[in-house]
Amino acid sequence: MSDVLPQLDELLFFSVDDVPVVSVEVIDTAVRVEARTTARQAACPECGGQSGRIHGSYLRFPRDLPAAGKLVVMSLRARRFVCAKGTCQRRTFAEQVPGLTRRCGRRTERLRSALVAVGLALAGRAGARMTNVFEVPVSRNTLLRGPNKGVGRVCR
Ligand SMILES: [Zn+2]
Repeated sequence: MSDVLPQLDELLFFSVDDVPVVSVEVIDTAVRVEARTTARQAACPECGGQSGRIHGSYLRFPRDLPAAGKLVVMSLRARRFVCAKGTCQRRTFAEQVPGLTRRCGRRTERLRSALVAVGLALAGRAGARMTNVFEVPVSRNTLLRGPNKGVGRVCR
């Protein structure tokens, strides 16, 4: 498996830096990809300052594009950083992985982009039926308003 993991990094995260795959598990109709972030620093979303002071870590479970007809769920260990600027309003912040995650996003960027494309091409009901075929079902309302624009969700 140790020989395979670097190849999985290249396959799953070809356009994303600093996210090595830890393990891949196939469970019935799903693939669970465990990964972690390793960037030395992250940018504070409030002031834009870079920080390397890690406050803690947590798990995120963004849905990804399906693979071989199975839904893919990532188990991504991401970190919170302490903002280095004393004058900043934000004390800690969650790191984002450009090209993979976004703040409050429950889907990977590539899945979000695919759903946006389906929404633009087919719109509501037809688009929702198409997402069922691709094993990433979303409602017609989600397609119409755009994925990752949840209503009433609270994130930090
Ligand atoms: Zn800051």
